Amino acid sequence: MAWKTLDDMDLDGKRVLVRVDINVPVEEGRVTDTSRIDRIVPTIKDIVAMGGTPILLAHFGRPKGQPVPEMSLRVTLPALEAALGTSVTFVEKPSGDELAALPKGTVVLVENTRFSPMEEKNDPMMAKFLASLGDVYVNDAFSAAHRAHASTEGVAHLLPSCAGRLMAEELGALDKALGTPARPVVAVVGGAKVSTKLDLLGNLVGKVDHLVIGGGMANTFLAAQGVNVGKSLCEHDLAQTALDILDKAKAAGCEIILPRDVVVAREFKAGAANETVAPDACPADAMILDAGPATVAYISDVLDKAKTLVWNGPLGAFEITPFDAATNAAAAKAATLSKAGKLISVAGGGDTVAALNQAGAAEDFTYISTAGGAFLEWMEGKTLPGVAALEA
Ligand code: ADP
Ligand code: MG
Repeated sequence: MAWKTLDDMDLDGKRVLVRVDINVPVEEGRVTDTSRIDRIVPTIKDIVAMGGTPILLAHFGRPKGQPVPEMSLRVTLPALEAALGTSVTFVEKPSGDELAALPKGTVVLVENTRFSPMEEKNDPMMAKFLASLGDVYVNDAFSAAHRAHASTEGVAHLLPSCAGRLMAEELGALDKALGTPARPVVAVVGGAKVSTKLDLLGNLVGKVDHLVIGGGMANTFLAAQGVNVGKSLCEHDLAQTALDILDKAKAAGCEIILPRDVVVAREFKAGAANETVAPDACPADAMILDAGPATVAYISDVLDKAKTLVWNGPLGAFEITPFDAATNAAAAKAATLSKAGKLISVAGGGDTVAALNQAGAAEDFTYISTAGGAFLEWMEGKTLPGVAALEA
């Protein structure tokens, strides 16, 4: 891999700009989930240990290019200080001279980068200004790497740059899953709609050996093949697109795995009366809400033979029981194989992470990406500008 890490840099006595993602949830002036803050601690501690002065750059919320008091990063200070076990100096309007005068090892947090309209426009003036604040640039925000902004992309070209610990870990895990994976590779793609995941499916059929299609989007594929899916969530207008993806898979030698049995119900609610039927036997007044046990058994067989798994999207309407059954069972199988060292498993996506947590499987997965949009763009095979800018 072509990017540098902290270990390749000389940070002694240097001001080190670190782009982090601390866009954490806040309620009544308090951070309610510190996961994102906890994950950047190793990078900051290592920079201090190497003699550098970390200057944190981050966005918070969507202030749209102007100062919005409720979106000040100041609110994250107590949580940041608690996680680091040191005090953190907050700077509203930074200047290079001021930062250079701080005692070595001071941790600095700069106000929300998106308070300036130049950030999201990746204005060269802002990149230049940011570069004047530091000697070295470290990007530790994989989750913001799909955006070419001044603090994620522009500044990287102006200073010696490298990936932080979290970024390096994420890139390493993702490369193992799709870059240079051990085969066979299985992808599981589920969720609500094909329309949001067209690029993703298109990329995967050319890269993986088996592609499991589940969730609402499986209905679109079933319908495209002439199956009546009743009142199921289904994008009938995407029938041709679905058939094109099936053709592309065939040409690439990728096995497409669609539901072999489905769980149908007449109401979208927890505990709704339901039955398991063949995929082409959904009653006209019912909807498909989950894959059935025969499908899960087949997915388990495929996973048994696989070496690598990438997963985005639940296999059913996992928020309501019992329609979380297929997602839970497949997740448990993947977790067991991963724990035994037989499978490299990487998963990401907002609802996917929630579903795997709910299934109690997340801990045993090899890597869970919390990056959301950046993870999806990576699964789509796109170059992430924030990562590309780090490449030497
Ligand atoms: P992610 O956020 O991980 O990328 P998605 O947002 O694509 O995942 O998909 C998650 C949503 O898909 C969930 O809200 C889930 O209820 C829905 N879903 C999955 N299967 C079905 C189904 N058969 N019918 C309706 N909704 C479904
Ligand atoms: Mg979602």
